[in-house]
Amino acid sequence: MICIGNHVSVSKGYLAMGRHESMLGGNTFAFFPRNPRGGKPKAVPDDDIAALRGYLEENGFGRLVVHGAYTMNVCAAKEDIRANSREMLRDDLLKMQALPGNYYNLHPGCHVGQGAETGIRLIAEALAAVINEVEDSSGELKNTVLLETMAGKGSEIGGRFEQLKEIIDRTVSVGGDRLSKKLGVCLDTCHVWDGGYDIKNDLDGVLGEFDRIIGLDRLCAIHLNDSKNGLGSRKDRHEKLGEGMIGAEALMSVVQHPLLQGLPFILETPNDDEGYAREIKTVSDWMIA
Ligand code: FE
Ligand code: FE
Ligand code: ZN
Repeated sequence: MICIGNHVSVSKGYLAMGRHESMLGGNTFAFFPRNPRGGKPKAVPDDDIAALRGYLEENGFGRLVVHGAYTMNVCAAKEDIRANSREMLRDDLLKMQALPGNYYNLHPGCHVGQGAETGIRLIAEALAAVINEVEDSSGELKNTVLLETMAGKGSEIGGRFEQLKEIIDRTVSVGGDRLSKKLGVCLDTCHVWDGGYDIKNDLDGVLGEFDRIIGLDRLCAIHLNDSKNGLGSRKDRHEKLGEGMIGAEALMSVVQHPLLQGLPFILETPNDDEGYAREIKTVSDWMIA
């Protein structure tokens, strides 16, 4: 199944996002349940979420890839930022209980000078604690939590597959075996490229490494972006498909790769609606080519 979409705004409500994505030609999408730069989310009426659920089903949408706020940092050095980040995560996951069967993706976090080891420990503790709290108050977690592959900018954790694997393993060991099936990974093409994984010249090698270290069974979604910068630049500046250093040919190979068929592909390219509609068309053509 072809599954492609982009980031849409939640400002007009939940059902409106589904309709908007259809208008652009997509059949999945991403959204921030709250302002991506932080702040309190707007209260969402239950019937609006229910209406979106119905709409997605009727229109054959694939799984959504909801995105946690950029300001969330569950491994921050400051205690109050950590606590606040846990609260955001808990709130988002609770809200998403009404939208089951989808993905909730988050940036693992920045260790801000504490070292990757400490950062990974704090992330795992937070994930385990929050998922357990959500399940205590609302029953089994109905969505899968994805950790995004990062560019490794600054003190970002998740620039290496090994770090994501360690977060998953530690979360399971702290929170219990049942958490294993609640955790996955979202691969961002711009980020892995910027992080030094050469998806342009050795896509098979990169996916092989992912499989060896994390396991391809954990790979749930793709953020499909070109990059303004070169391999290993660690800059994290997204570019339109085909206009960056990864290039159209390599991105097409990602979309067509046999191991990635059926995954939701989300565009996070610098575009307006018209540009997104064009890229969705391009990627759909690649998928059926
Ligand atoms: Fe992201
Ligand atoms: Fe991304
Ligand atoms: Zn990015």
